[in-house]
Amino acid sequence: MRYVSTRGAAPALGFEDVVLAGLARDGGLYVPESWPAVDAATLERWAGLSYAELAVEVMAPFVGDMPRDDFAAIVHAAYGVPDVFHSAAVTPLRQLDVNEWLLELFHGPTLAFKDVALQLLGRLFGDILGRRDQRITVVGATSGDTGSAAIEACRDRDNVTIFMLHPAGRVSEVQRRQMTTVPSENVVNIAVEGTFDDCQALVKAMFNDHAFRDRHRLGAVNSINWARVLAQVVYYFHAALSLGAHDGRRIDFSVPTGNFGDVFAGYVAARMGLPVGKLVVATNINDILSRALRSGDYSRGTVQPTMSPSMDIQVSSNFERLLFDLYGRDGDRVRALMDDFAAGGTLAIGNRQVADASRLFAAARVDEDETSATIAAVLRANATLIDPHTAVGVAAGRRLRTAESVPLVALATAHPAKFPDAVEAASGIRPALPPHLADLMERPERYEILPNDLKSVQDYIAARTA
Ligand SMILES: *Cc1c(COP(=O)(O)O)cnc(C)c1O
Repeated sequence: MRYVSTRGAAPALGFEDVVLAGLARDGGLYVPESWPAVDAATLERWAGLSYAELAVEVMAPFVGDMPRDDFAAIVHAAYGVPDVFHSAAVTPLRQLDVNEWLLELFHGPTLAFKDVALQLLGRLFGDILGRRDQRITVVGATSGDTGSAAIEACRDRDNVTIFMLHPAGRVSEVQRRQMTTVPSENVVNIAVEGTFDDCQALVKAMFNDHAFRDRHRLGAVNSINWARVLAQVVYYFHAALSLGAHDGRRIDFSVPTGNFGDVFAGYVAARMGLPVGKLVVATNINDILSRALRSGDYSRGTVQPTMSPSMDIQVSSNFERLLFDLYGRDGDRVRALMDDFAAGGTLAIGNRQVADASRLFAAARVDEDETSATIAAVLRANATLIDPHTAVGVAAGRRLRTAESVPLVALATAHPAKFPDAVEAASGIRPALPPHLADLMERPERYEILPNDLKSVQDYIAARTA
């Protein structure tokens, strides 16, 4: 399997190089040159596999140049042992109503769905770099959850140093502490005086500065990294097969969405042949994606802080991967569109492309009141606390699901204890941290505050990278 850039002007690479590269050199994102197909007999065979076994099967066609035994061992180390994910099912389903389920993706070390992919990615980095005797400097931007999950994935790994940028004062205390209390030598936290989009722009600029990128061997763990998207494809198969997809039964998914990585993984599953009904793109009031998918208007607004901060995003990096397919995999076309967007903050998607997308995707915007009301309603009906991101997904899914006879799976992307203030305000109950994080508020913190300025950040990183 080779990978091509969505902007058509970077060299095609194999899986291992794509994992290390992150962003393509032409500013695009890597995608597989074709989508592998899974037939009904294969789905039948996959039903009933453990999460780790299924993960090897689903991902195998994409990892081409990596020895299959090495890959299987890494997958089992991430998903097949009891101490990484605190659930034997890894991503268990919890039933909320007739034909309605939560897919709990928050049983990893940092209590958010990003652990599912990053626990794999950290191990892939360790293995690939070890065999090549290379080092990497991971530079990432986080609106909260990516950072701690990436740090947990990279901490104490040989060959890796990680610099994580977060917007100062704009992540929750639990989220900040999950990053800044990690004592490992190879972990450096930077609080940028700006928004998440500023942090993301700084990271992109560092990757586009090829001299800097090469000198410090930059690598990315943000959701632009193909391996993250790939790892997330697995739980769509796992959940759908648990609910009878191998008998041809279609399943709807509702996905709390920010950077479009998670829901794009659902798209990949559907392209591979998983019978998906609707993929509901659930956004909070930062609704660039719901506007784009409903009317073709992909234009940047200003970020408004909400109680679901990991979705407070006005630029959705992974959306470019969908545009690439919608425009017939024409890299020149995508490059022109993205140049327009970079220049004017707006991009018009064609009517035909919007219509094509709407066959699989539906999109809804959920405001703060409805998010709170959904947290309260789920507590009343199920004695279960959900976090605000999950609530956005549940609310949007209930609005846009195909039909009540089609199972709806709402992705539960964070544990409620990551957002205790919002959950308490909505429900009257303050969720407790699980035992392995119980002393988080007492651990010492370590981070650097820097201005929203490329040179300051580059100088800081250069001074700390050999
Ligand atoms: C990152 C995140 C999201 C958004 O996922 P994307 O892949 O960026 O769309 C949703 N919920 C939570 C809790 C997150 O951490």
